[in-house]
Amino acid sequence: MTDSPAADWLRRFTTTALDREPDLTALDQAAGDGDFGANIAGAARLIQSELDGLVAGTPAAEVIAAAAHVFLDRVGGTSGPLFGLLLQEFAAATVKAGDLTPAALTEGTTNGLAAIQRVGEAQVGDKTLVDALSPAADALKALPPSTPLTEAFAVAARAAEEGAEATAGIRARRGRASYVGDHAIGVTDPGAMTIGLLFAAGT
Ligand code: ADP
Ligand code: MG
Ligand code: MG
Repeated sequence: MTDSPAADWLRRFTTTALDREPDLTALDQAAGDGDFGANIAGAARLIQSELDGLVAGTPAAEVIAAAAHVFLDRVGGTSGPLFGLLLQEFAAATVKAGDLTPAALTEGTTNGLAAIQRVGEAQVGDKTLVDALSPAADALKALPPSTPLTEAFAVAARAAEEGAEATAGIRARRGRASYVGDHAIGVTDPGAMTIGLLFAAGT
């Protein structure tokens, strides 16, 4: 089904996540327990089958909520619930805006970041997906309201990718990567990288 920007966005994300599974696995092997790629790829396959099952014309918020439920209810690891919270906030903001608009993207990212930080207590610089999500939220908030959706996604993706790249230079203070100390230096955080992939899928 490719009948809405929200469904197209999430389907592109699932394709990229499956393509990048080996890289994501390697990063979590280098500074974690190695399951991140499998967690995200498993989510991607489940989301694809959810998207296949939706009738044409399903409202954007319901499409996004279906993906949120996959992450919240059916994906393991630390990342499953955290991506679920983010998508849940995208869905809520999309309900409020009436569609997946740039304003919904900004509000969903901002509220998703807050929800993830409430649960996971990570700050910027702890080498987690917060290092990608926080600059993306800041970049979105700085955009004029008239910015087209694909451009807003692109701006968020660039900010998230830069934030993710910066995680390579630091040791982790949260998550399993924090157990390996200096060995995490040089390794990009796979969760942060995947936040970049999520936004890039909307461009
Ligand atoms: P686990 O570490 O339980 O095996 P995953 O491998 O699925 O979980 O996910 C690891 C990712 O989760 C990391 O790359 C990091 O981005 C993210 N992460 C871990 N702990 C936190 C946290 N406290 N806050 C935000 N993100 C976190
Ligand atoms: Mg892991
Ligand atoms: Mg694990």
